[in-house]
Amino acid sequence: MSAPIYLDHQATTPLAPEALQAMLPWLSGPESMGFANPHSMHRAGRAAAAAVEMAREQVASLLPKGGRVIFTSGATEAINQALRSVPRGPIAYSATEHSAVVNAAVATGAECTELPVDEQGLVDPEEEFPEGAGVVAVMQVNNEIGTIQPVARLAERAHEAGALFLCDAVQGAGKLAPPEGADLIAITAHKLYGPKGIGALWVRDGVAIGPLIEGGGQESGLRSGTLSPALCAGFGAAAALAKERMDIDFQHLSGLASRARSILARWTVNGSETARWPGNLSFRLPGLNFPRLLSDCRDIAFSAGSACGSGTGAPSRVLTAIGLEAKEARNSIRLGFGRYTTLEEVETACSALDAAARAQGC
Ligand code: PLP
Repeated sequence: MSAPIYLDHQATTPLAPEALQAMLPWLSGPESMGFANPHSMHRAGRAAAAAVEMAREQVASLLPKGGRVIFTSGATEAINQALRSVPRGPIAYSATEHSAVVNAAVATGAECTELPVDEQGLVDPEEEFPEGAGVVAVMQVNNEIGTIQPVARLAERAHEAGALFLCDAVQGAGKLAPPEGADLIAITAHKLYGPKGIGALWVRDGVAIGPLIEGGGQESGLRSGTLSPALCAGFGAAAALAKERMDIDFQHLSGLASRARSILARWTVNGSETARWPGNLSFRLPGLNFPRLLSDCRDIAFSAGSACGSGTGAPSRVLTAIGLEAKEARNSIRLGFGRYTTLEEVETACSALDAAARAQGC
């Protein structure tokens, strides 16, 4: 079986070779001390701790100044910790937030308000927030349609309303400048060419948060449990590389997106034409049968709506929030390009998808 053309970079990204190399010393067996517990006081433990701290700095370099990085298992944990540990009060979040935000907010038991989005997927930055809001959560880049939110202005408005601003920057971290003005930022390594199983919560200095779980008090008491130096080192190396390559990656993805759009010119783009991350293209075509397209194009890894929501049969919450009818949402696909995607892969995949759609009579 030949490897598929991978166009699902919003679901996850491949591990960068540089990140893998950074991880290997910390995955070795008894012949080296790479397996040592980074919380141990002996020399091997201190070496592992130094690798963790170097990674923390590399990750922090993707985030605003004036805050600290707490390592977590991923963005879902970071978002849960943020929402559960800040002062109580109504939580407002955009209608296109990831389920990690929506379900974590609802689980706090706080009053939850959904902020509407327009047909481009944008929250109006002048939107009224609920009276006494404790937290306003709006993501930086949407995982389904790639819309980039005006987070700096939204953070300013949240502060004027006396609320903290939480930004799920999972899809933007390492790709765009960090969200300005946020108090809490959640990111994850596996969307920026790092390993799965590690993420971070960034907390602005002066913002008090508490732990989600109790235990040995690691991460200054805010996230108990033994850290994995391998995961931290892989995350750090991926972050450093992303920072170094930010402009090159952006140019590369912009080129791929414009080629895809020219091949799929008869398809309609979902979301914003301009305020969008070029690595994400969500398209629809009237009458398109997604399961059939997926089966006809087995050598292309792409998705409908979001990877998390697909398979439930329900139309995408994000696509319906931007005003698409359930039918139009079901006629949609998401193509996600990445650093290692080639122009030839985009051309082959887009031509094959368009031909398979024509064969369906679309
Ligand atoms: N937020 C967004 C926008 C995402 O795309 C994802 C992953 O799909 C998450 C949060 C959850 O991240 P993690 O897999 O690290 O828990």
